[in-house]
Amino acid sequence: MLKIGSSTSGRSGVSAIRSNPINLEASSSSSTKKLTSLLSKDSKPLPATVSETGSEETELSTSEGEDDTSWITWFCGLRGNELLCEVDEEFIQDDFNLCGLQAQIPHYDHALDMILDNDTFSVGELDDEAHSGIENAAEMLYGLIHARYILTSKGINAMHEKYKRAEFGRCPRVLCEGQPCLPVGTSDIAHNAAVKIYCPKCEDIYYPRCKYQSNMDGAYIGTTFPHLYLMSYPSSKPATATEKYVPRVFGFKLHKDSKSS
Ligand SMILES: [Zn+2]
Repeated sequence: MLKIGSSTSGRSGVSAIRSNPINLEASSSSSTKKLTSLLSKDSKPLPATVSETGSEETELSTSEGEDDTSWITWFCGLRGNELLCEVDEEFIQDDFNLCGLQAQIPHYDHALDMILDNDTFSVGELDDEAHSGIENAAEMLYGLIHARYILTSKGINAMHEKYKRAEFGRCPRVLCEGQPCLPVGTSDIAHNAAVKIYCPKCEDIYYPRCKYQSNMDGAYIGTTFPHLYLMSYPSSKPATATEKYVPRVFGFKLHKDSKSS
């Protein structure tokens, strides 16, 4: 609980509480989305639930957090979204950067308003299904904007800070000795494949260790990012792994003919 709270950049106790039930209960991305929509920033019943837990401090921190946590901060703080950085609102407000996305995203205008915290519609006007649809659209829109943002110098810098803190996880290969990894997509088209992590040392890709991260669409990162990043920050690229694991039987290397079946 505390750990989750600290990962939401500590701006709001609400974020931590919001994210926790989602992660504990969600077993599929659709239920995650459903729960996300139920627990969205616009959901009014939440503060009452929070204040039931007790003290005055809780209530105070709730009312503060409700106002100053942006949708972007809240969304990036959800467990499983650690591979995402916070996209600059200025980048999102520039229509040029969103070119072509309108055709891909249902409820585009509402989804964009949700991401930017523009209250152009009230939750009461929409039924649960419509609201859930907009939440899902906002997630996908943010993800596809994110994939573009992390190819800009500002986005690469933001991801560099996360990489330095090894927030994308480490290579599971023993001979890579805990090398920090970078997120990567195997497709730039949404709904094609889940996100993977790329190890710059052995130059291979792996499933993320955290199952919540495994649900994220790889198109939110894209196929280019880690390689462009390493070109921009060559000092972040470790020496390529040359050490190779050698199978042995009673200490003897296997003859290559013995490996073929
Ligand atoms: Zn590796």
